[in-house]
Amino acid sequence: MGTDRILSSKLSEFGETIFAEMSALATRTGAVNLGQGFPDTDGPAVVAEAAIDAIRAGHNQYPPGPGIAPLRQAVARHQHRFYGIDVDPDTEVLITAGATEALTAAMLSLCDDGDEVVTFEPWYDSYGAAIAMAGATRKVVTLRPPDYGFEPEELRAAIGPRTRLILLNTPHNPTGKVFSADELAFIAELCVEHDLFAVTDEVYEHLVFDGEHRPLCTFDGMADRTVTISSAGKTFSFTGWKIGWACAPPPLLQAVRTAKQYLTYVNGAPFQHAIAVGLDLGDDYYDTFRATLQQKRDRLADGLESVGFDVFRPAGTYFITTDIRRFGTDDGRAFCLALPERCGVVAVPNVVFYDNKHEGRHLVRFTFCKQDSVLDEAISRLGALRSAGAA
Ligand code: PMP
Ligand code: GLN
Repeated sequence: MGTDRILSSKLSEFGETIFAEMSALATRTGAVNLGQGFPDTDGPAVVAEAAIDAIRAGHNQYPPGPGIAPLRQAVARHQHRFYGIDVDPDTEVLITAGATEALTAAMLSLCDDGDEVVTFEPWYDSYGAAIAMAGATRKVVTLRPPDYGFEPEELRAAIGPRTRLILLNTPHNPTGKVFSADELAFIAELCVEHDLFAVTDEVYEHLVFDGEHRPLCTFDGMADRTVTISSAGKTFSFTGWKIGWACAPPPLLQAVRTAKQYLTYVNGAPFQHAIAVGLDLGDDYYDTFRATLQQKRDRLADGLESVGFDVFRPAGTYFITTDIRRFGTDDGRAFCLALPERCGVVAVPNVVFYDNKHEGRHLVRFTFCKQDSVLDEAISRLGALRSAGAA
């Protein structure tokens, strides 16, 4: 076998993830890393202690296939508490290796070769590869600034005879958009009209600052056709634990579980015990978490504005998208590659999240899930752009 063709054609479009590339750049250059979205402080001590206790208590072997019962029950309580959704923890909840595995398992189990998945661009990086691994193709509808709305007729036109499902991320990475009730109702209407499944990525569900997060499965006709995915990584600031989950009606969940069984079989036994504790934390935890991140959003947004960026203040997530054209360039990728050298900061070029490259070429994403002193240091360093006279 020659080595000229190693990577399968399904994956040839996908190289190293932008997050790995940019974090490596930050490590290499000693730059402040506002690229990859991971917090620089740990989540609640009580949750960390629960993981340590679980290890000490011997929860160290393969957990049950669908995940441990206490965590599935905690997910069910969470869905009821925050959204009034009733799910059966035994037949409608699956624990996964982060949202990433749930998303991939959903694509692999629901799509056949040649099926189409409709999603919005910019799209989170694993979607493209997950859809491709399933042998499906993606059809994108562009979200456009300043409010990142979409043209309803564009969405309708993206649906064809091979469309299998709509993949929706709200709150949305990288734009910070929180889809409105009207937008969600329209998406739901199309799913029902065309008999499509929906897969929703709601990992930022507890990071909504303006507006309200409404799971798509709560809209008319959607409960029986939606796989709702979330993760503990963002909500509890333990991104490295990789505990996620999918909720869906039994036949859909069974399908996703079939794929999950052969991807990882099971995952993270002691962390599952800990996240069961986390999900039951009181409202004060969730409220403080959101308020803290909202204050960080404003800190970074104000700072970026002060040094000359055009800022789209996000309604949710922990990312801010900026327009860099005031710095005399529309090439976000080159801008991000040069930024560590120019002023010691790493950011992510949004163009990597687009199929229509011209739509995202001039956009750059910064994360604000960092300590205030780190955000302040980044802004102070980015001040070099302004004093260079470019803005
Ligand atoms: N979806 C989105 C929109 C994300 O930003 C991320 C990154 N955390 C994920 C999915 C992956 O989540 P996890 O780490 O739980 O796999
Ligand atoms: N979700 C994180 C981000 O958007 C990165 C996670 C990853 O590296 N896969 O920055």
